[in-house]
Amino acid sequence: DDMIPATDTRVEVARLLTELLGSADVQNHVAGQLMRGDGETLALTDPATGKIFAEFPDAGAAVVNAAAEAAIAAQREWWGKTASERGRIMFEIARQIRSHAEPLSRLEAISAGRPIRDAAGEPARMAEMFEYYAGWCDKITGDVIPVPSSHLNYTRHEPIGVVTQITPWNAPLFTCCWQVAPAICAGNAVMLKPSELTPLSSLVIAALCVRAGAPKGLVNVIAGQGPTAGQKMIEHPATGLVVFVGSATGGAAIAAAAARRLIPSILELGGKSANIVFADADVDRAVIGAQAAIFAACGQSCVAGSRLLVHRSVHAEMVEKLAQASARIPVGMPLDPATQIGPVNNARQWDKVDTMVRNAVSEGAHLATGGGKPDALGETGGFFYAPTILDRVSREMEIAREEVFGPVLSVLSFDDEEEAVALANDTPYGLAGAVWTRDVGRAHRVAAKVRAGTFWINSYKTINVMSPFGGFGQSGYGRSSGREALAAYTTTKSVWVETAADPTIGFGYAPG
Ligand code: NAD
Repeated sequence: DDMIPATDTRVEVARLLTELLGSADVQNHVAGQLMRGDGETLALTDPATGKIFAEFPDAGAAVVNAAAEAAIAAQREWWGKTASERGRIMFEIARQIRSHAEPLSRLEAISAGRPIRDAAGEPARMAEMFEYYAGWCDKITGDVIPVPSSHLNYTRHEPIGVVTQITPWNAPLFTCCWQVAPAICAGNAVMLKPSELTPLSSLVIAALCVRAGAPKGLVNVIAGQGPTAGQKMIEHPATGLVVFVGSATGGAAIAAAAARRLIPSILELGGKSANIVFADADVDRAVIGAQAAIFAACGQSCVAGSRLLVHRSVHAEMVEKLAQASARIPVGMPLDPATQIGPVNNARQWDKVDTMVRNAVSEGAHLATGGGKPDALGETGGFFYAPTILDRVSREMEIAREEVFGPVLSVLSFDDEEEAVALANDTPYGLAGAVWTRDVGRAHRVAAKVRAGTFWINSYKTINVMSPFGGFGQSGYGRSSGREALAAYTTTKSVWVETAADPTIGFGYAPG
């Protein structure tokens, strides 16, 4: 082993997993311990080198069945605790995440290809998610309804029971904590399947939950593929709700599978979000905002501002400034503290991004900067892609309509407010959007007219666990984060109590 440099991904990941999970083996986390799958061998690839650094067996029916059984038992134990006790354990999960922040962020940076300067701050954000929902545990209360009869009528917000959660590869640690925290706050147990490309940080969260004193099996993580493990999780009779974060195509398959079992689903899907810049905007700030909107996480973000709509009078200035600034953003190895843009997560995604850029150019778009692998990283086997600005994009081009999920910005121009709003809404998606203007009235008019679940005025990308998040249209349904997530993760029971001294028995419908 002395011959292998310490930066070798396989060695480094094994070291981190041993520190965080007590074993270098990638397995499943079921009933509070590691459990081996029995399916075909799957591999994890380092996005920065293109080299395989771990293998693991796909989870099969045995893992899913064991996880479901453990979840049922753990949920009973969890709901049997007092609300304050559940809150205390959730605060302890947050503390565990904070105290393992360094190895956890390193693991996420290496395995998902996230720049360490972003990943380093993530565990603190994840801890905040558990702290926020820890505070809700003893505040989920029903109502007393003033029904006009001799009855006392009250509501109870009860857990659904066992929730299946399926998450994508672009922000694995974030999505795991984002969905697990409200689910357990509301009294549920979880079976979570991260993407088979990025299961590691979710496995660590499951282990930290156990360390914090959560019942074993409250949070089970299944490292497997969608059609095998994911489908079995949805089909398992224990699953009472499916939460899916991923592509629109995946979402449709999940919703159909949930419908066959008559269980509800929450879908957090993709987007084609518009960033609208008016002539009266502070153009220099808009340039910074447009870069943050599209290049954060190498464009692999559901809320990416992938369409830039610019007023014709500032179009040339904006594109020139953007192209110059984008060409200077440091693209490089995730563990280099100077890196602002890391690699695309996987080879298939790199090919998709590059094909879409080539198609756009052949359809008449103008490549203002970027396209393909940056020259300086040509020697690496990593899936790097240059920050790319495509100008003169028109609304009917594929690049203006389909989600790219890479560092590629499409620039379109408009002449007036009405056209800007029409262009912004010219998509089946509706996840996010932004407007840049100094005109207060216009800012709020546009915010009201754009169909999107999240909208920014003179800003982009800001989100917080306290504020509801979700999509319009094909970006999905249901809301995650904030108080609204608790409504999705509970079911409401209405309880009627007769209080009359001499109740009469009525037949048929009894008006309360
Ligand atoms: P994907 O749909 O291919 O996969 C997501 C997850 O679903 C993975 O765990 C995968 O294994 C599983 N899966 C796929 N098909 C399945 C099936 N038939 N049954 C059960 N499980 C199945 O998405 P991806 O490529 O991993 O992620 C990228 C997508 O996620 C983008 O479209 C992005 O916009 C979206 N996303 C949305 C949000 C949001 O909050 N709205 C957040 C992050 C990512």
